[in-house]
Amino acid sequence: MGGERRESGVGDRRESNSRKLLRRLRDVLATPARGQERLDRITHLIADSMQTEVCSIYLFRDADTLELCATQGLKKTAVHKTRLKLGEGLVGRVARTGTPVNTGNAPSEKGFRFMPETGEELYSSFLGVPIQRVGEKLGVLVVQSKLARAFEEHEVDAIEVVAMVLAEMTELGAFGGAVEALHKQPVMFRGTSGQEGSSEGRVWLHEPRVVVTNPVADDPLTEIERIRAAVGELRVSIDDLMEAETLDKEQKAVLEAYRMFAHSRGWLRRMEDDIQKGLSAEAAVEKEQSAARSRLEQVPDSYLRERLQDLDDLSNRLLRILTGQGQDTGATMPENPVLVARNIGPGELLDYGRKLKGVVLEDGSVGSHAAVVARALSIPMVIHAKNITAEALNGNTILVDGDQGIVHLRPEETVARSFRDKIAMQAEAQKRYAEYRDLPATTTDGETITLYMNAGLMADLPSLEGSGAAGVGLFRTELQFLIRSQMPKRDELAQLYARVLDAAQGRPVAFRTLDIGSDKVLPYMKPQDEPNPAMGWRAIRVGLDKPGVLRMQLQALIRAAKGRPLTVMFPFISELSEFTEARAHVFRELHREKSLGHLVPQKLEIGAMLETPSLAYAPDEFFRLADFVSIGGNDLKQFFFAADRENERVRKRYDTLNISFLSFIEQITRRCLAHGTRLSFCGEDAGRPIEALGLAAVGLRAMSMRPASIGPVKALLRRTNLGAIRALYETAKAQGAASLRPALMDWLANHPE
Ligand code: PEP
Ligand code: MG
Repeated sequence: MGGERRESGVGDRRESNSRKLLRRLRDVLATPARGQERLDRITHLIADSMQTEVCSIYLFRDADTLELCATQGLKKTAVHKTRLKLGEGLVGRVARTGTPVNTGNAPSEKGFRFMPETGEELYSSFLGVPIQRVGEKLGVLVVQSKLARAFEEHEVDAIEVVAMVLAEMTELGAFGGAVEALHKQPVMFRGTSGQEGSSEGRVWLHEPRVVVTNPVADDPLTEIERIRAAVGELRVSIDDLMEAETLDKEQKAVLEAYRMFAHSRGWLRRMEDDIQKGLSAEAAVEKEQSAARSRLEQVPDSYLRERLQDLDDLSNRLLRILTGQGQDTGATMPENPVLVARNIGPGELLDYGRKLKGVVLEDGSVGSHAAVVARALSIPMVIHAKNITAEALNGNTILVDGDQGIVHLRPEETVARSFRDKIAMQAEAQKRYAEYRDLPATTTDGETITLYMNAGLMADLPSLEGSGAAGVGLFRTELQFLIRSQMPKRDELAQLYARVLDAAQGRPVAFRTLDIGSDKVLPYMKPQDEPNPAMGWRAIRVGLDKPGVLRMQLQALIRAAKGRPLTVMFPFISELSEFTEARAHVFRELHREKSLGHLVPQKLEIGAMLETPSLAYAPDEFFRLADFVSIGGNDLKQFFFAADRENERVRKRYDTLNISFLSFIEQITRRCLAHGTRLSFCGEDAGRPIEALGLAAVGLRAMSMRPASIGPVKALLRRTNLGAIRALYETAKAQGAASLRPALMDWLANHPE
């Protein structure tokens, strides 16, 4: 295919020139030399081959600063002195956009920056290309000449290919001390806290990067054969995927687009062209992938972005086929692993379980169920750590500060030392909280708030004793479904639930029936392609429409109780009829179990989670029927403010202590009080001491939180006069304040421990 296109001898000659350049480059790289010496030789070699007066290499010193690291043609005294900010000058523009700048009249270009120390005013032609490796920006390679002309396409191609090889070699450490910044220097990431707590550990990449050790290849024919074979294999694997019986029409349509890419002639042709220029098959794939990633950053259209993402994914698969480095690279998980990933689902996180010391994500959201899982497992978590997957290498030392949302990668010893002090202090504080274990959460003016714990894993059970919880206010049964690769059986569940009740030793446990959908997707259930899953077919809606699993779960619960009291809670009830229908299922199963000769619970309580504003306005009948109501603050808040709990950008705008939200909760407390319906709050906010105080001020007397929060929440409640906080709330409301937070923080500052 590639051969057919190259009829002209000129094309062949140009390609062999580029190959020659690459071969010379490889020879330089193969000769033992110090890093700086190599860089100097390379700039000399490129300028010589391209017949330009100048060739310079700029590399990133830190995320925003480029430094001139080697040059042929500019003043040598400027090396390691001239620095540019990202976006500054033409070089900075190349770095920021990840795309080449090619001009015959550099000084007239927008953004041109005159750098007298380099003597560059003499050169009017400028060609700069990014040195990047799959989205990781490493630097900029520049050639300049006096002759005022734009560079020809084949010259741009050649320089891009060279930049690609430089990127690979930089990554492999070929420039030693001259490029010490790469994957060696300490880097700090400022993200957002997903779960409090601090930890020290070693990086464990969820999707390890593929390492390419052979960017230059001598024999294009062999490389072309290799890439064709690999693309063939890739195509077959996608065809197989499409044959899978479980796919519905829409999924097939999505995969069809994916398949089109894999079969795209243009994609393969571009990679073959790069191979003709001297790159290995792997480097050719990466070059295409880098270009696609740069485009991805620029494209606002979401459809196109998704397609480019497809291409990115295909490139990864292709690289894995070519290098034989599968998901499992053979690396062993280090001790104290800290998971680093772009994003992760709750099920995958549960697979790793408690062995993780921390989780750091590039994307993610505080309100996501992955964050809920991290919280349930008490794993410090930082989200929005931009670019960390490109920076971190398996095994690197990493410090996770989940309180501040900060991550230190490869930290200096002084930073690590003070961090360890902080961890020790937190452990000390936890010990102090342990002293409160058997004391009630009674405020100084005599109000007692009952504190329960949230649970979902067997590993949570010891906390029932250790935390001093009054019981389990929310048992998320879906976690047991999420950690399995197939639907659990009734008997297995019954045994599990029985163990929970045994551990609770008579304390109440509110078993929430299966809450799936939204971002909780069971790997063995047909995924739903919904435009808006958070408001889609989830939780009780699934349970009522397809009651098989719900009924099986209710049977398991009744059997687990073996006559003991049982508390069942239905998630996401939006109206009375859903509750009556769900409740009827309980009675039907109770009847069935009884007729089968099983013991039935001596006491049965059936409650609902209030997670949609509509339920707050349900008929009185609902409050009379429900034995208890538990406010699912995570979902309720997202629907109250119409702000997606998984979308950090909008989620952060709305404070839980917002007066409108607190007034709404107060209304719910009033309705429950009027009907004698027990009320609790089990969203994540209950576990945040300041928020818990606000909730108590508007009337909540029971809250359920992760076990580690019970101590801090109790400590604050015990030293607070709730009447005073209530008064702050009344005043803030009367004054039309947006949030109770400023007044509350002020009060706390004036009433130190
Ligand atoms: C809630 O929505 O507040 C809740 C407790 O349920 P989940 O976080 O599991 O959706
Ligand atoms: Mg919920």
